[in-house]
This record gives sequence, C-alpha cells and structure tokens, in this order.
Amino acid sequence: MSIAENLQHIKKLLPKEVTLIAVSKTKPESDILEAYNAGQRVFGENKIQEMAEKYEALPKDIQWHMIGHLQSNKVKYMASFVSLIHGVDSFKKLEEINKQAIKNNRVIDCLLQIKIASEDTKFGLSTTEATQLLAYENLKNLNNICIKGFMGMATFTDDETIIKNEFRILKNYLNSSKKYKTTNFNPTILSMGMSGDYEIAIEEGSTMVRIGSSIFGTRNYN
Ligand SMILES: *Cc1c(COP(=O)(O)O)cnc(C)c1O
Repeated sequence: MSIAENLQHIKKLLPKEVTLIAVSKTKPESDILEAYNAGQRVFGENKIQEMAEKYEALPKDIQWHMIGHLQSNKVKYMASFVSLIHGVDSFKKLEEINKQAIKNNRVIDCLLQIKIASEDTKFGLSTTEATQLLAYENLKNLNNICIKGFMGMATFTDDETIIKNEFRILKNYLNSSKKYKTTNFNPTILSMGMSGDYEIAIEEGSTMVRIGSSIFGTRNYN
C-alpha cells in the first residue's frame, strides 16, 4: 500500500480527537511530502539535527514533534520551530528548553516521558519522580515552557494485557496529576501508542499516537 493509503487506513481507526503523529525518522523528504500531499501536517522525528534539516527543506505549515531522547546541548537547533517535545525526563532539560524558548521569545510545549514499561531500555521518569518534579518550587519560574501532559512507551510484547495495564497506569497518572495544575503545567495530552499497539492505546485513552512503520514502511535502522 502507498503512504497515502496507509494514512487513510489508520485515520479510519482513529477517533477525531486523537492526533496522529506521522513518525518520519530516517525517511527521506520525498516520503514526508507524499504524506503531506495526502493531508498529513504533524510529523515526529527522534533526532534534533535531522528534524531541523527537514524543517528547513519542507513546507512551513508542518508541525514538528520531537519524540526522541533529548540531548540538552542540541535543544537550540529546534527551539525556534518545534511544536511539542515529548521526551523530557529531567528538570535540567526543562531549564534548558526554557532558556532556549526565551531566546526565541516563545513558549515551548513539552511532555514528561514516564517509564511505564518493564524493560530496562526505555527512558523516562517513574511516576514518583515525575510528581517530585511537578512539586519542585523552581518549576514556577520556568515561564517559557508549558508541560501539557505525558508520553509513554509500553513493553514490546505480544501480551496485550501487559500493554493495556501499562497504558492504564499512564492514563490514571494523567488524571491524578490534574490537581497540580499551574500556569505552566496543564495536563491534557497523553502521547501513547505506536504502530504495534496504537489500537490498545486509544482504548485506554490516548490523545496522541506516534505511528511510523505502519505509514512509511519498515526502517532499516533506528
Ligand atoms: C520510532 C518511534 C515511534 C514509531 O514507531 P513505529 O513502531 O514505527 O510506529 C514512536 N515513538 C517513538 C518514541 C519512536 O522512537
């Protein structure tokens, strides 16, 4: 199937209120344009420099989401244009994002990445660590960031019960964190679900799915 057909197929399965992020990491600009011409406007990348190069080359009404593990020293390359940073896992990174947002005279929206999977390889904060971060007094001073919710990746397994339970933990955490709402913490977004598990994620209350291979085909690396 073509990229356009894949997009059409996935969109039929998504409730209207769920945002589809087309994960275009490692894929050429021609593939992104094909999706763009089929109406897709939101794309996700996991390397800041690759995303910045694609941003320069492609139509300016594309919304770029950084979904990868964040390197603080590279935040400056995307601070002028990034729509949402999904993978924030420390206060230090929020400070760096805030600093670069000030330089660009804007507010940058972020999600905290929560470790819901049992695998060691997945990045992110525990819910306890996230709650500590949200309670941190200095967070109030970061006026150029807004934490809009949470991102999580489920364990890579065929066992749907495990995946379901992990997504449910994140949904419950989003609900319970609403009591900490402040000017720069306004949790409404739940970024969960990839090619292999997005239908379960939607059932469990995802508001944003990050889908790569089911749109663009398998990747050779990453
Ligand atoms: C690559 C990636 C995706 C998309 O994965 P697919 O299985 O190709 O849909 C989603 N989220 C993150 C964080 C990724 O790195």
